Amino acid sequence: MTRDAICCCGKLTVRCTGTPELVSLCHCFDCQRRTGAPYGIAAFFLRENVRIDGRSRVFRRPSDSGFDVAFHFCETCGSTLFWEPARKPGVVGVAVGAFGDPGFPAPDQEVYTECRHGWVAPLAPEPGP
Ligand SMILES: [Zn+2]
Ligand SMILES: [Zn+2]
Repeated sequence: MTRDAICCCGKLTVRCTGTPELVSLCHCFDCQRRTGAPYGIAAFFLRENVRIDGRSRVFRRPSDSGFDVAFHFCETCGSTLFWEPARKPGVVGVAVGAFGDPGFPAPDQEVYTECRHGWVAPLAPEPGP
């Protein structure tokens, strides 16, 4: 199956094939500032399963791993649509909200929970066997 992540103006799109390798919810303050929301959610796809169309600009920021992450945002509307972690060159992170799909797979994990807003509920634990 394919899913399209689309920026606000529609000039930048990311077509993703198959299922994400990992869906990660991040509460860190950098993600809060990037999104304007209390957390960001990334779906990581293998690079060969991602096709990018349109022009983006890049903002690199360091991460706690010591490797930069290159965030790509639409040069027209400013939506951050995808990012490339230098630590894992084989994968591309895609902003889950940009899919506009309430049926998108739920996060597998949440990180930086120490920054979680008080009203945001923790992820439900994995159902037992
Ligand atoms: Zn745009
Ligand atoms: Zn984060």
